[in-house]
Amino acid sequence: MTDAVTLTPAEAYALLLSGNRRFVAGEPQHPNQDSARRAETMPGQRPFAVLLGCSDSRLAAEIIFDRGLGDLFVVRTAGHVVGAEVLGSVEYAVSVLGCALVVVLGHDSCGAVAAARTAVADGITATGYVRDIIERVTPSVLAARAAGLDQDDDMIAEHIRHTVDLLLDRSRVLAEETAEGRAAVVGLSYRLADGSARLVTARGLPGETIDLGA
Ligand SMILES: [Zn+2]
Repeated sequence: MTDAVTLTPAEAYALLLSGNRRFVAGEPQHPNQDSARRAETMPGQRPFAVLLGCSDSRLAAEIIFDRGLGDLFVVRTAGHVVGAEVLGSVEYAVSVLGCALVVVLGHDSCGAVAAARTAVADGITATGYVRDIIERVTPSVLAARAAGLDQDDDMIAEHIRHTVDLLLDRSRVLAEETAEGRAAVVGLSYRLADGSARLVTARGLPGETIDLGA
């Protein structure tokens, strides 16, 4: 795109949150969803954020952040678990497409977290590849329990923090971009009841930005 504006991580974060506020308030503007935007983005994409969210059908990214075509590079897995394909997708969005913001989006009443809690508590787990999902959420549940946290909200927050840490730990590209201020990684917790996305953790964002957004 010729008119693409490169946003700072703080600007990208503010843009994302403003869309969520519109959604929460029931006043969405549905930006960038028309044929003009389709034509504008046809030559190339320049998304301002990459979103790694849970696949839960109630977390439709462009709806809850009130965005449109070419805005968000979205990667979703059950329980926002991370594997090689997820890491590669995030790295591509940051290093090739120039996304300044990486968002990990978890939510309350997450089935993947609930299943991992059951597996830890009762030893009951799933078969097939669902088991793989549960096993990747289990370290977060164990960490929360070790810290004396047992509420659903605490478990969700721990899993979001764990996923942010994992991305930065595994991806050298992302860690370097964040350390040099070209990218930031934030963890948000989405509330199904009111549609709000609350900040859980942030890496690489200026402190005043976090206060502004939280
Ligand atoms: Zn979920």
